[in-house]
Amino acid sequence: MSGAEPQSVAIIGAGPRGLSVLERLVALAAERTTGPDIVVHLIDPYPPGAGIVWRTDQPESLLMNTTIAEQTIFPDASCEFLGPDAAPTGPSMAEWYRSQGGTEPVDATFPSRSLYGRYLRDAYALISDRAPDSVEIVEHPTRVESVIDLPPVEVPGHAEQTPDTPPAQVVRCEDGTTIVAAAVVLAVGHIPSAQNEERARLAAYAHRTGGLYLPQGLPAEAPVAEVRPGSRVIVRGMGLNYFDLQTLFTHERGGRYVPDAPGELRYLPSGAEPCLFLGSRRGIPYRSKPITREHPRSFEPLRFFTKENIALLANLDDLDEGHRAHARFNDQLWPLILADLRFAYYRTLSRLRPEVFDGDPGQLREAIVEAVSRHLTRRTWQETHPDAEAGSAQHPSEAARPGRVTHEALAWAEIEETLVPDPAHRKSLHQLLNPLDGLEFSSREPGVPGSLHDWMVDFLRTDLHSSLAGPEGSPEKALFTVLWQARLLLKELIVAGHIDPVSVDMEICGWFENFVSGICDGPPPQRIAELLALAEAGIVRFIGPNMRIDANEEPESIAEDTLPQVFRVTSAAVSGEITGSVVIDAASPTNSVTRAADVLINGMLERGQLAAARLTLDDGRQTMLNGLAVTPRPYRTIDAEGNPHPRRFALSLQLSSVQWGLAIAANPNSNATTLCDSHAAAEAILDLI
Ligand SMILES: Cc1cc2nc3c(=O)[nH]c(=O)nc-3n(C[C@H](O)[C@H](O)[C@H](O)COP(=O)(O)OP(=O)(O)OC[C@H]3O[C@@H](n4cnc5c(N)ncnc54)[C@H](O)[C@@H]3O)c2cc1C
Repeated sequence: MSGAEPQSVAIIGAGPRGLSVLERLVALAAERTTGPDIVVHLIDPYPPGAGIVWRTDQPESLLMNTTIAEQTIFPDASCEFLGPDAAPTGPSMAEWYRSQGGTEPVDATFPSRSLYGRYLRDAYALISDRAPDSVEIVEHPTRVESVIDLPPVEVPGHAEQTPDTPPAQVVRCEDGTTIVAAAVVLAVGHIPSAQNEERARLAAYAHRTGGLYLPQGLPAEAPVAEVRPGSRVIVRGMGLNYFDLQTLFTHERGGRYVPDAPGELRYLPSGAEPCLFLGSRRGIPYRSKPITREHPRSFEPLRFFTKENIALLANLDDLDEGHRAHARFNDQLWPLILADLRFAYYRTLSRLRPEVFDGDPGQLREAIVEAVSRHLTRRTWQETHPDAEAGSAQHPSEAARPGRVTHEALAWAEIEETLVPDPAHRKSLHQLLNPLDGLEFSSREPGVPGSLHDWMVDFLRTDLHSSLAGPEGSPEKALFTVLWQARLLLKELIVAGHIDPVSVDMEICGWFENFVSGICDGPPPQRIAELLALAEAGIVRFIGPNMRIDANEEPESIAEDTLPQVFRVTSAAVSGEITGSVVIDAASPTNSVTRAADVLINGMLERGQLAAARLTLDDGRQTMLNGLAVTPRPYRTIDAEGNPHPRRFALSLQLSSVQWGLAIAANPNSNATTLCDSHAAAEAILDLI
C-alpha cells in the first residue's frame, strides 16, 4: 500500500474471540487508505475459528447448551460502533444454518458443538476471502510459549527509533517459529488450571493404588477410553462437563436412547458403559434449559430491575448519560430482581393454577409493587436491614444471602402464606437452588422407602417436564427468563462501571453467579431425559449433597470392575457409602490467571509482564481477582509494576476483572460486548501501525 515495511500483528488463540478480532482487523483495514501492509499471524494448535472448544472433529453427540439462534461472529446493526443503518457484515449462526439447508427451529434447537465449529470455520474462510490486498493472514498451527519485548534499539540515521519508541514483541512458539510483532492480542480463552492440593493428592493416591483419577479439563479432550466397561466411576460435579461425560460413556459407546413416555426416553445399553455414581456440593444437576419459542430476551421485559429504577437508586437521572454510579448489588439491585422473580412466578402460577390461591392473586402483585416503591426510597444497607448493627464491620456479602429473612421479607411472607396456603406452591429461592437442603435419606436403592434414588428421579422428571412446558407453561421456568434478562443487564452495568467493584466481587461473583448458573446454565432438556433414562436403567446412581471422597483402605474386589475399589464416597445426608475404582472431577476448572498452568500466561505472570488484577476491599485489604490487570477498553495489559503495555491487548476470559459472565458467545442483535471489545482492539492496533 504505502511501500513501508509491512507490520505484523500476532493473535494468540484463534477460537471465537481471536476470530472476531481478525474479522474487525480485516474490516477496518479494508476501509483504510493509508498505512503499511499488515501481516496477521493467527497462532493456535487447533484450526482457526473453531479452536479447541469447537473442534469440528469432536463427536456430533456433544451438544451446545445454547441454541442455534444465540451465536454470531459478525457485528450487526445493533453494534454501537456500526450504527442502526449498517449493512449486515456476515451471517449469524442462524442465518448460516438456514443457508446450509437447516430446517430445525433455531430458537429451540441445541446444535452439536461441531456444527458451531463448522460455522466458525466458514466464518474464518469468509473473513480470509474478504481480506484486502494490504492484509495477509498467516496460520501457525502451534502454541505460543513466550512473548518478549525487544529492547528499543537506536538505529543510526533513524531518528524515530528513540528509547521512547514502543518496543516490538518477539512471539516464540513451541515449533520454533519466531514472530516479531508490532502488536499482540492474547485471546487464549480456556487455559489449563493448576490442580489444588486435594486433587493432586487424589491423583497421586490413584496412581499408587491402581485406581484411576481423571482431573478437571475439557471432557472432549479427557482420556475417557481409559475407563473400562463396568468400572465403578465416582463423578464429582453435575454441571455441563458431566453431561459431556454422560454422552461419551453412553451415546459414544453404542448405547441408544429410544422414545418412551411423552418427552421421556428409555436407555438400551450396549454393555460397554461404566457405572456412574454422581454427586456434587448441591447433589443435583443444574436445571435444564426451558424450550422457548424465541430467545428469553424477547419475552416480557423486566418490570422492576430496569435502568430507570437503578438510576433512581443510584441517585442519577439517567444511566445512559455516561455518569458513573456505583450501585451495590445485595443492597440495591437484588431486591429489584427478587421482585421480578416473584412477579413472574406468581403471574404464571395464577394463570396456570388459579385454584391454588386463597384470594385475589392481584394482592401479591400489589405487595410486590408496594415493596419496590418502598425499596426505591431506601438507599442504604442499614435502612433495608434494620437488624444490622449500625457501623458494624460485617461485610454485606456475609449478611445477605438469597432467601435471607428481613423485615420486608416477613411482611411479604405473611401475604404469600395467606394467599398461597399450600407451601408446595410457594417459591422459596433458597429451596429452589438447594432442594436437598435439610433432607435425609436412609437408602440409595431404587424403590426403597426414603430412597435418594426415588427422590432424584421425581426431581429430574419434574424439571424435564417443566422445561418442555417452557417459561409460559411452568412458573419455575418463568424464573429462568427473569434471571436471563437480569444477567444481561448486570453485565452491561458492570462493563459500564456502574456497580461497585467490591460488590461485583463479593456479591455478584460471591453468590449470585452460582445462583443464576444453577437456574440458567443447565443443559438442554434432552440431557435430563437421558439422565433420567440412565437412572432408570441402573447405569447411574446418586451420591447425595456435600459428597466426600476418601481413601478406601481395604479395597475389596468387585466382579464387574477390573480395578481395585480404592475410593470411598459418602454424603452426610444419605446413609451408607459407595466404593469405586475411578474418580472423575467433572467440575469446570476455575478460569483464574492466578491458577494458570500453561507455559505462556503463567510465564508472563512470573516475569511480571502480566499481573492479576487486584481489588481493594472496603476494609482496605487487597484481594487478587481471577482476571488480568488491564486498562479500560481496548484492554491493554498492565504489568506487575502497573505500566500498561501500549501494544499488548487481552480479550476473552482473562477480562473477568472488568466483565462478568464471559464464557458465552456473542449473541446477535444485542450490541454484544465481545464484538465491541474486538472492534476497540482492532481500532487501537491499526492506530499503532
Ligand atoms: C466445554 C465448553 C462448552 C461451552 N459451551 C458453550 C455454549 O454452548 N454456548 C456458549 O455460548 N458458550 C459456551 N462455552 C463458552 C466459551 O467460552 C465461548 O463460547 C467461547 O469458546 C470463548 O471463546 P474464546 O476465543 O474466548 O476462547 P476459546 O474458545 O477457549 O479459544 C481460545 C483458543 O486459544 C488457544 N490457545 C490457548 N493458549 C494458547 C497458546 N499459548 N498459544 C496458541 N493458542 C493458544 C486455544 O487452543 C483455543 O483454541 C463453552 C465452553 C466450554 C469450555
